[in-house]
Amino acid sequence: MTQSHFTLNNGKKIPSIGLGTWQSAPGEVAKAVEHALKSGYRHLDCAWAYGNEAEVGQGIKASGVPREEIFVTSKLFELHHHPEHVPLAIKDTLKNLGLEYLDLYLLHWNINFEVDAPAGTLPQFDHRIKGESGKFKLDVALCEDVTPTWREMEKLVDQGLVKSIGISNFNINRTKKLLKEARIKPVADQVELSLQCPQPELVAWLKKNDILPQGYSPLGGTGKTNLRDNEVVKKIADKHGVQTANILLSWLVARGINPVPKSVTPERIENNLKLVDLSKEEFEELESLSQSHPPNRVCDQSDSFEPTYDIYQENHPEFSDKAQFAKEQ
Ligand code: NAP
Repeated sequence: MTQSHFTLNNGKKIPSIGLGTWQSAPGEVAKAVEHALKSGYRHLDCAWAYGNEAEVGQGIKASGVPREEIFVTSKLFELHHHPEHVPLAIKDTLKNLGLEYLDLYLLHWNINFEVDAPAGTLPQFDHRIKGESGKFKLDVALCEDVTPTWREMEKLVDQGLVKSIGISNFNINRTKKLLKEARIKPVADQVELSLQCPQPELVAWLKKNDILPQGYSPLGGTGKTNLRDNEVVKKIADKHGVQTANILLSWLVARGINPVPKSVTPERIENNLKLVDLSKEEFEELESLSQSHPPNRVCDQSDSFEPTYDIYQENHPEFSDKAQFAKEQ
């Protein structure tokens, strides 16, 4: 039987499929959210950085679905990690969404820009400081140790503004560091997970440590069709009489992953909620297909900063997920 919910390490439940909202254009996303909620979705994946939370809020309102039935996630962006900015950031997100609390607030990236914003105001994109290279400068100390930011996020749980807190784009090494300091354990790590980026070591480690792996770009990313056109996936989809998207999502859920596919197209939104039971052979075929090539990421901004910051540490001899995972076996 396909799974309808995952249970978080604090006992709260999260629906197996969420609606992604990144790159859902203005004028489209309110309708997409309304349609999703009316079609049975009860989980929305949002972020301050997507610049569309006010529209998402309009969609929630227009759907008429009671707030308490919906699991809403948002993310603390990489302009807002300084302790004084965290309370301002959550306030802005809740105001935009028109909500009194979030179900989940994720630390969006383990990176943080240097910003120059007037005291008491929430930094915006144009408050980032440029370095000599012309790239935006990182506050490396706060990237290396996110404890001051995490302490503020823990306070938001105490205040009832968010029910759960989690992380995003964290590898094993960086998550282990956080776990040593955390009073409240992250419930989830939202990372890129798809047939082209399966991250088996990270997924296994998160599950072992009771942190839910959430999968972003599960269909291969906006505007990209290579996964949805894959012949093996098509063959399995035809056998089940479904679209390739359903197979890509069902395989992730069967791996214990919580995917958040994005769509603004009504038929696709409805379609993506359908999960199918894959046979053991089909599951294994997709597993080996996923590992038959080097991982291919949609989201990697490591080279976009000054200094360059190795977000995923994929080739690091000690801190790569492969090395960290092997050390524990
Ligand atoms: P995705 O969900 O992998 O793919 C979205 C693309 O697939 C869109 O072009 C969509 O088109 C199309 N699509 C959806 N369902 C389809 C179907 N049944 N058949 C054919 N095409 C279909 O991409 P994503 O937006 O990168 O990732 C999903 C969500 O993850 C984001 O929206 C965001 O919420 C989250 N995310 C988080 C992070 C992070 O740093 N934490 C990073 C990236 C993404 P239409 O919309 O035109 O239908």
